This record gives sequence, C-alpha cells and structure tokens, in this order.
Amino acid sequence: MRQHKILFVDHTAVMGGAELSLLDLATAYAATSKVLLFEDGTLRKRLKQQGVNVEVDRASEAMLKLKASGGLNSLASIPELWRIAGRVSRAASDCDAIVANSQKSFVTAALATLRNSPPVIWHLRDILTARHFSRVNRRVAVFLANRFASRVIVNSHATARAFVAAGGRKELCQVVYNGFKSEKFDLVTKDETMRVRSQLSIGNAPLVGLFSRLSYWKGQHILLEALKKLPEVHVILVGEALFGEQEYVSQLKELANVPELAQRVHWLGFRDDVPILMKTCNLVVHTSTEPEPFGRVIVEGQLAQKPVIASAAGGALELIEDGVNGCLFSPGDSLALSESIAKIIDDPSFAESLAQRGYQDAKQNFALETILQSFEKAISLTKS
Ligand code: UDP
Repeated sequence: MRQHKILFVDHTAVMGGAELSLLDLATAYAATSKVLLFEDGTLRKRLKQQGVNVEVDRASEAMLKLKASGGLNSLASIPELWRIAGRVSRAASDCDAIVANSQKSFVTAALATLRNSPPVIWHLRDILTARHFSRVNRRVAVFLANRFASRVIVNSHATARAFVAAGGRKELCQVVYNGFKSEKFDLVTKDETMRVRSQLSIGNAPLVGLFSRLSYWKGQHILLEALKKLPEVHVILVGEALFGEQEYVSQLKELANVPELAQRVHWLGFRDDVPILMKTCNLVVHTSTEPEPFGRVIVEGQLAQKPVIASAAGGALELIEDGVNGCLFSPGDSLALSESIAKIIDDPSFAESLAQRGYQDAKQNFALETILQSFEKAISLTKS
C-alpha cells in the first residue's frame, strides 16, 4: 500500500480546495514521494510541516497570473512551459508517475512526457466550461489529456461529464472524491464554540456559515440577499478573495452596508479553524451560482453535524439527497435559500435528522482512508 513514488506538481501555493486535498494526498505519500510547486507560499510551509519533500521552481509572474479564462495570449507562455517541463521531467526521473494538481501544472507535465518523464495523471478538479476556461485553454488541455495523460482523476462525475463534453476521452476518467478526517470535527469542544459566539457577541442567535473564498460565482451575495428576509439570523463569511477579486469584495461590503443587515454579517477572512467555526453554526450553506466541481465545504458541514443547504448543481448533487442528508436550492435563487434556512431553523427535529444523516453519509463515503485507497487504485491502473 502506498508504495508508488509520485511527483505531485501544482502551479500555486495558495490554499484553495485543490491544495487542501493535495496536502492530504502528499502527506499520505510522504515516505516515497515529493511535490514540485511553481511558486512559494502557504502550501509549501504546510507540506513541510507534514514531512513532505517539497521543492519550488518559481515560474514567472506573467505565467502565474495567466488566467484560465484568457485567450490566445496564453500561447505566448509556451517557451516557459517547455523550460518548466524539463524541470518536471528531471524531478520525476526516479518516480512511477507524475500527478498534476492543476491545469497549468498539467500542461507542463504533459510536455514533460516528450522529455522522457514517467506516466502523467491529470488530477482534474475543475468543471471545464466556458465560464471558467477560454475555448483555447479548454482545447489545449483536452488535446494534451487525450494525447499524453495515462489517466484523468476527476473529483466528481460532474467534472468527468464536463471533461467528456469538452472532447475528453471518457475511458481516461476515474472518479476519486475528496477525503476528510472526521476527528477534526469530532474533537471540537463546547468551550471552543462558545468562545466564538462570545467573540462575535451574538448570544444564542441562529448562525449561518458560508465558507468559501470571496468570488462572484461562490455566491456570497445570494446569502446576503436571503438574509434580508431573516431578521433574527447572523451570518459568518469565512474566506478571502484568493485570486484578485477585490472588486467583488467591495460590492459585497456595499450590499451588507444597509440598516436591515447591520451587525448581522461577520467577516472572518481566511481561517484555519474551519471545524470550530462550522460547529459554532446552526447550519452551513453553499451558494455557488455555477456548478461546483466537488464542494468540500458541503462534506465538511455534514461532518460538523450541521444541516447543509447547497446549490443544486455539479458535484453537490452527488453529495446531497434533498431533504434527507441536506437540502438543495436552485442556484442563484435567494428567496428559495431564505425559505430553506427558515424551515430548518423553525424545525429543530428536521434540522437534527438532516445533520445526523449527513454526518453518517459523509463518514461512510468520504473517509480519508477510503479515498486514499481509491486514489491508489487509480494510480495503479496507470501503470498497466
Ligand atoms: N477554507 C479554509 N479557510 C477558509 C475558507 C475555506 O480552510 O477561510 C477551506 C474549506 O474548509 C474547504 C476549502 O477551503 O476545505 C474550499 O474547498 P471547496 O471545494 O469548497 O472550494 P474551492 O476553493 O476548491 O473552490
């Protein structure tokens, strides 16, 4: 078990969901494997703390800032991609496989196969649609995957479907969901949650948590809109704008700056104590306006034994059975969201049954150890 020697590559060291998942995988393979990042940052530090062998080969600012939604200008970075491909190939010379954790790192890894690298696996964690990826970028990525990837590990069936719809070969896809350690949630104490409530000065008021980077498609504005119809409820917005979306943050602040929401929206920024904060909430919401590839926060909310309400699209549909282990609402529909929140707050036994069933399902389906076994299987298939 876990004998493979893997080179994990990622272009970013900023802690998004993909990087949190990579942290779990690379930690499990720390004895044999290593990680190559194209920038320095929190991910490198966290990997090091976990005893993972990690190196940074810094890419140029121009390449790091290239937007996946950008057009033909991304082709200008080919010489640099080729240089990094050489670096990836050298770093992987004693490995069984390269696992690329992002689209940019996958492109370099695919090029590395032309430079004698081991098999390349793309760990695809994005829904390849026009909303997030330009046509050129989708075409290039799918062409390289079809031609050079030994496997595409996808984080949900929704991600797989979008890959195939963009022209990707279905037989390359293997679904491996994100895995979680439930202990992080189980060990949270009443004292810790009481402390948060007292810091927020909210007494026993109903508290709704939204845990996500601040970004238009993550839909924080939908929750603020819904909150106008819920006069007793407080909200914590946990996360910051990770990829330069300051304009959206200003819009959100304006939206919150109305008398009816006064003192009820709490901006907590990026936090490392998500389990404690989730446990403090009465319920957790996920409000993406676009299909979410997986939706880590949904499973985390279930592990915190809270009712979760999520937008009915993408990976969320694979995690939540409406009215059974959570609730779904139509993406962008703030009225439906406010009604769903009110229903759960007004009916404690319904809330409890959603929370308990969600907890059981999340523990059963997304335990880190089980997911690591699926990952190992996906890697093994690549070798044959
Ligand atoms: N998260 C965090 N601190 C924050 C906000 C979010 O650690 O302040 C974590 C959250 O717990 C989750 C991840 O970031 O594990 C976000 O993953 P998700 O799949 O929900 O969205 P992504 O960032 O991948 O789009």
